[in-house]
Amino acid sequence: MQTLHDITSKDAPPRVLILGGTGEGAQLAARLAERTDFIVISSLAGRIGEPKLPQGLVRVGGFGGLDALASYLVKEEIKAVIDATHPFAAKISHNAAIACSRTGLPLIALRRPPWGKIDGDLWHEVDDFQSAASFVEAKKARVFLSIGRQEVGAFSGCRDAWFLIRAIEMPGEGLPPHHEVILQRGPFALEDELHLLRKYSIDYLVSKNSGGSATYTKIEAARFLKIPVVMINRPLKPSVPCVGTVEEAIDRLECLVPAVSKYSEECRG
Ligand code: NAP
Repeated sequence: MQTLHDITSKDAPPRVLILGGTGEGAQLAARLAERTDFIVISSLAGRIGEPKLPQGLVRVGGFGGLDALASYLVKEEIKAVIDATHPFAAKISHNAAIACSRTGLPLIALRRPPWGKIDGDLWHEVDDFQSAASFVEAKKARVFLSIGRQEVGAFSGCRDAWFLIRAIEMPGEGLPPHHEVILQRGPFALEDELHLLRKYSIDYLVSKNSGGSATYTKIEAARFLKIPVVMINRPLKPSVPCVGTVEEAIDRLECLVPAVSKYSEECRG
């Protein structure tokens, strides 16, 4: 497999770093990897043991904090950064904003819009995981907890509620006393989500407002079955130039990194 260091920086096209871990990050990497006018490197946090690797070059693991990220950008001669991380991954986005500002690099955030409540939705919106836990505990609910595995610990003190916990990999310590875990990776069909909610007699769904289509069917299923959703609002992300689609990210990248266009012209010319 080709690595970043196999490609010498001399005469090479500009390097673009995608902070990924999302479907959009992978789609963007696939689109950029087809092109010869710049080199794309995707960065994954390494939370999942067997992640689906994006096309192109990939690095895995945290950078080691803000200063280390800034050093990485300089050392690897990155010319632009696209923050395509999940809406709930706030820390890396803040680090990227500060590191790019320090190093003078252009930064584009690729952010999918949040889901909006529509007719038939029964949403109770909260601002954090702890509030969601207090709410369902007070209801002594049978809960479908579909928030991934990182934040499940916020529900560990719930003694009166029961949880069906869905995650890609087994959550660590801090599970609530009454639960069952199912390990599944989306996207999920609407029929399957309906079946799951009925099979476990779920009366509350807890979800992050992740947006996007990959996990939206659980929201549709809850609407169909008139099951209330405890919707956790997104954390604040830094205010940086933002696009909503992969296509827009590519357009913006071409404008922001003149060297990319210049190199393309040279290649064509
Ligand atoms: P986070 O809280 O914002 O970041 C925590 C630390 O993880 C960062 O400070 C950084 O470590 C490292 N990190 C995060 N994303 C990284 C990336 N793309 N490349 C390299 N290092 C990264 O993030 P998180 O919520 O733990 O999410 C981790 C990753 O999973 C993100 O890439 C995100 O896109 C993906 N993801 C998250 C969620 C979610 O609900 N949070 C859902 C789906 C996918 P250092 O400080 O050491 O650099």
